[in-house]
Amino acid sequence: MTIFWHRRDLRFTDNAGLYRALKTGDPVLPIFIFDRNILDKLPNKADVRVEFIQRSVEELAEAYRAHGSDLRAFYGKPIEVFAQLRDELNPTAVYTNRDYEPYAIARDLAVKELLDEHDIPFRHFKDHVIFESDEVQKQAGGPYTVYTPYMRRWKKTLDTRMSSFAGEKISFYLKPYPTETYADNLLKESSPHPVPTLADMGFKPTDIEIPPKEAPAEVIEHYDKTRDFPGQEGTSRISHHLRHGTVSVRAKVRRAMKLNETFVKELIWRDFYSNILQEFPRVVNESYRREYDNIPWINDEEQFEKWCEGKTGVPIVDAGMRQLNAIGWMHNRVRMITASYLTKHLLIDWRWGEGYFADKLLDYELASNNGGWQWAAGSGVDAQPYFRIFNYESQQRKFDKDYRYVKRWVPEYGTDKYPAEPLVEHKFGRERALRVYKEALREARET
Ligand SMILES: Cc1cc2nc3c(=O)[nH]c(=O)nc-3n(C[C@H](O)[C@H](O)[C@H](O)COP(=O)(O)OP(=O)(O)OC[C@H]3O[C@@H](n4cnc5c(N)ncnc54)[C@H](O)[C@@H]3O)c2cc1C
Repeated sequence: MTIFWHRRDLRFTDNAGLYRALKTGDPVLPIFIFDRNILDKLPNKADVRVEFIQRSVEELAEAYRAHGSDLRAFYGKPIEVFAQLRDELNPTAVYTNRDYEPYAIARDLAVKELLDEHDIPFRHFKDHVIFESDEVQKQAGGPYTVYTPYMRRWKKTLDTRMSSFAGEKISFYLKPYPTETYADNLLKESSPHPVPTLADMGFKPTDIEIPPKEAPAEVIEHYDKTRDFPGQEGTSRISHHLRHGTVSVRAKVRRAMKLNETFVKELIWRDFYSNILQEFPRVVNESYRREYDNIPWINDEEQFEKWCEGKTGVPIVDAGMRQLNAIGWMHNRVRMITASYLTKHLLIDWRWGEGYFADKLLDYELASNNGGWQWAAGSGVDAQPYFRIFNYESQQRKFDKDYRYVKRWVPEYGTDKYPAEPLVEHKFGRERALRVYKEALREARET
């Protein structure tokens, strides 16, 4: 029997690793592990992400049951679960899809070593992205660190291998893996295996609504015109589905190519940041541009708290932070504005903001979150230069001129309950940031 281990790919259809496992002809036992190494560290026991994963695993189990099989879901530490499975089942092989985060890489290495002791192969496949970093490289070799040439090469690479699907010519890289064709090779199970409930794992349900797997076609068709306005429903809201693999990124790119070119480019940003993390894992803790680690952050804890709570007195920043706190998602334009306000006006280390987003975002993905934060701080690849500091007032005028977004999330805005002055006013904050950044970067270059 072959084990297929689901992680960031909580779906049965169009799943690269599962397809490969099924194709071997050996009966396939699908599993999922609610990882205690991660869950035990979560401070909030009403965590919408755990709830979303638990629900998605239930759905996945149902999909397997429809094929006369089942998913076995464990609650434990992966290494211990695999030690038990190895001894009880002695599998022929373990198949999975690759995960590029440092914790996942270390975890997989430990599992591989455990299986190696019994000569059980651990096979892993690309599924989470369209291209891994070694597939989109500069002509002269080496990874891209600037988005636009990366995006052009990404598109060219797509066209290098053509195939056909549903009577259409499409890139091989976007072709779905027809998992259903081999569903007969799933291990047959006569009785269902219960999936651990939230309560079993010490968690509670939340009342946060999870957006659907597919955005309406009209939203994507107008995406280039609506995506920057946080008061409108102008973006897809599929980020958490992509993050947990409840949808296939290949399917999303295929659809995007038919509907809107700008939307395709956003999905390429996702690959870009994943590739950066694959190539430069040090960005997890350090600034990509090392000289930015010389910035003398003020790191005022009280101001940080106010930023987290959405009480800075800057309406668009407060609206963003309250949206994040309430629904676990923030509009991209406002992610940029809130991140810029924290790292430039408040002079607080980007890692603090990154950590707060990581705790709250339903779509939290290390690569994109780190990329977004380092972009805002100026320290990342292809980042906003430090001297371009968002003016929150002109951002408000441009992207939320009727204050629709602000009024939705900050009901007391415009009353005497709302702060009369911002925590740090734009002109002062801008000039201070310019001075501090310039000096620190100059010093770092000279030493
Ligand atoms: C400071 C900061 C932190 C961020 N943290 C995350 C994060 O943890 N997880 C995350 O998925 N995205 C993150 N983003 C990127 C972006 O804000 C979200 O992907 C987007 O807001 C999700 O909403 P949507 O699905 O409606 O996006 P849409 O605008 O509909 O875009 C479609 C998809 O393209 C991808 N995408 C879009 N923009 C980006 C981008 N700039 N970088 C990478 N992928 C992108 C996402 O997968 C998204 O779901 C961050 C951006 C910033 C500035």
